[in-house]
Amino acid sequence: MSLEPETLKSLVKAAAEQVIASAPELTALDQAIGDGDHGSNMKRGFEAVLGKLDTISTQPLDEAFKTIGKTLVMTVGGASGPLYGSFFLAVGDALRSKRLPDDLADVFGSGVGAVSARGRSHAGEKTMLDVLFPVLETLKAQAVRPDLIDRVRATATEAVARTAPMQATKGRASFLGARSVGHIDPGARSSCLLLLAVCNSLEARQ
Ligand code: ADP
Ligand code: MG
Repeated sequence: MSLEPETLKSLVKAAAEQVIASAPELTALDQAIGDGDHGSNMKRGFEAVLGKLDTISTQPLDEAFKTIGKTLVMTVGGASGPLYGSFFLAVGDALRSKRLPDDLADVFGSGVGAVSARGRSHAGEKTMLDVLFPVLETLKAQAVRPDLIDRVRATATEAVARTAPMQATKGRASFLGARSVGHIDPGARSSCLLLLAVCNSLEARQ
């Protein structure tokens, strides 16, 4: 399926610009429990996505997601590059046979499953999956309802806060053991920022 080029363009642009503008915040979070590169990794990746915006916005949706995924794999680096890349590539694959908005939970679930498989990680390990899994549950529970955008925003925001008391068992933060407790996970925050930007942009277009 395809989206109107202008709609797709505005969604991708909003998500990319949000992450780029939030690079200092993501860096600060990663300085606390990682190596301090999450902001610059994400900024580099989403600047590359912005550079391909004209191509992406005219592609069918499945191909657009694949272009985003490949771009992120090639440019983000760190642990998060292959993980976010897997998410977008798997969503692109799913969109070849599924339809939006009816199959939204299935499509999003394909992306979340790919992150989990690639990272060999599950919910509760203080990673981006601690935002992605709860949002998937909200999508499954709500199907497409008028307040879905509000529910996704609330779920993602609350899920980020819930990573603070967790002890990391995956990624660099796991090297800190119990000292990872008390800090928000940088990847959980970047996932939340991407979702909030998409929600806000969708709402503005309604
Ligand atoms: P690196 O840890 O290599 O420096 P980044 O700083 O860009 O990479 O990304 C760190 C984020 O990646 C973490 O905050 C976490 O959310 C996510 N992450 C790391 N390892 C995993 C994993 N195995 N599964 C899911 N997410 C992970
Ligand atoms: Mg890092």
